[in-house]
Amino acid sequence: MRTPAPVTVTLVRGDITLQSVDAIVNAANSSLLGGGGVDGAIHRRGGPEILAACRELRASQYGKGLPTGQAVATTAGKLDARWVIHTVGPIYQVSGNDPSLLASCYRESLRVADELGARTVAFPAISTGVYRWPMDDAARIAVETVRNTPTAVEEVRFVLFDDRAYEAFVRQLG
Ligand code: ADP
Repeated sequence: MRTPAPVTVTLVRGDITLQSVDAIVNAANSSLLGGGGVDGAIHRRGGPEILAACRELRASQYGKGLPTGQAVATTAGKLDARWVIHTVGPIYQVSGNDPSLLASCYRESLRVADELGARTVAFPAISTGVYRWPMDDAARIAVETVRNTPTAVEEVRFVLFDDRAYEAFVRQLG
């Protein structure tokens, strides 16, 4: 078997819903039924097809919702992508600040991306909004996990919504 080339990590300051990639990762909540922040933006621009697919997941294998740290894919609706990969980040205080669940979001999203055959994947800064994970620590966990996860994904693009997030990721990429 060929060993995949190391993943290329790129940074963009902008809106993840405007990216053109194979898969866009959503920082969802475990209900999968939409929320604020990046989740709301993805459902607004992606249209009702994504929510319909999420409702089907709730009616089938995720009756109790998607557990924190796991990931699942749906259609990307009207977004310029083939799939949305929904993952549920940990809430900073509630998780006891244990980095493993946040790392799991990145690892599991890449595993789902590999199952789908996605080669370009856009991630937001998971858990750094209403879930309040400190930005520098979240950026470190994100970059380290992506670099240390074996994957056939060729490009991981972190899409950072504001300067503070963008600069935190720049510091990690070094
Ligand atoms: P969480 O519940 O995981 O904290 P949020 O959506 O509240 O998720 O925030 C996660 C990160 O996504 C925050 O840094 C927020 O600024 C950012 N964000 C919000 N909207 C967008 C968007 N349209 N594109 C990219 N990032 C976004």
